[in-house]
Amino acid sequence: MANPVRVLVVEDEPAILELIAINLEHAGFAPLRAASAEEAAHLLRQTLPDAALLDWMLPGQSGLALARKLRAEARTRELPIIFLTARSGESDKVAALEAGADDYLTKPFSARELIARIRAVLRRRAPQLGDQPVEISGLRLDPGAHEVHGNGRGLELSPTEFRLLHFLMTHPNRVYSRSKLLDGVWGDDAVVEERTVDVHVRRLRQALAPSGHDALVETVRGSGYLLRGGARP
Ligand code: CA
Repeated sequence: MANPVRVLVVEDEPAILELIAINLEHAGFAPLRAASAEEAAHLLRQTLPDAALLDWMLPGQSGLALARKLRAEARTRELPIIFLTARSGESDKVAALEAGADDYLTKPFSARELIARIRAVLRRRAPQLGDQPVEISGLRLDPGAHEVHGNGRGLELSPTEFRLLHFLMTHPNRVYSRSKLLDGVWGDDAVVEERTVDVHVRRLRQALAPSGHDALVETVRGSGYLLRGGARP
């Protein structure tokens, strides 16, 4: 089983915060609660969530200011952000999107709509968290069934190699440094050394070797790793 997707909820109204958190839990997410931008910043120093829901109007720092800060820092730059707000004016939407929000929900919203928007943003921004099968050059990974096939032949992968391959296959043709892979595959609160990545890449290549797909995983000297996808030159 994959770890539940962690969603940070920043909302100063306790009843709304609790309602959102309960709905997230019902949908299989793991909510992280914060009542202010300051509390969220504190929480973010310990845990990097997979997505964030930010209320606009907060005591102290606003949700908008928090979003700008998250986008400005390397660690949280890629964090998917959805705004929750009672403000529905067009200029507010523009301001939210310019601050780096991926989506925008106007209160009141239904739990179903909230969950659907979170899933849509995650599909777009973090496909490795989804359940959609991925296929590249005859290598097929099915997250739901937890199976990998190379040219139709079943391949045996341990859970870590499976997550590593899922991440690489959903981000093909991009070089990832060891520290970026640690963030993306292990989660950044994991205590893992960077050379551990090399060990798992080696094991992944061994697991893919029976169908020859080990050649898809390339080492980029001095930079990290890359999975070659699509048409090859
Ligand atoms: Ca509020």
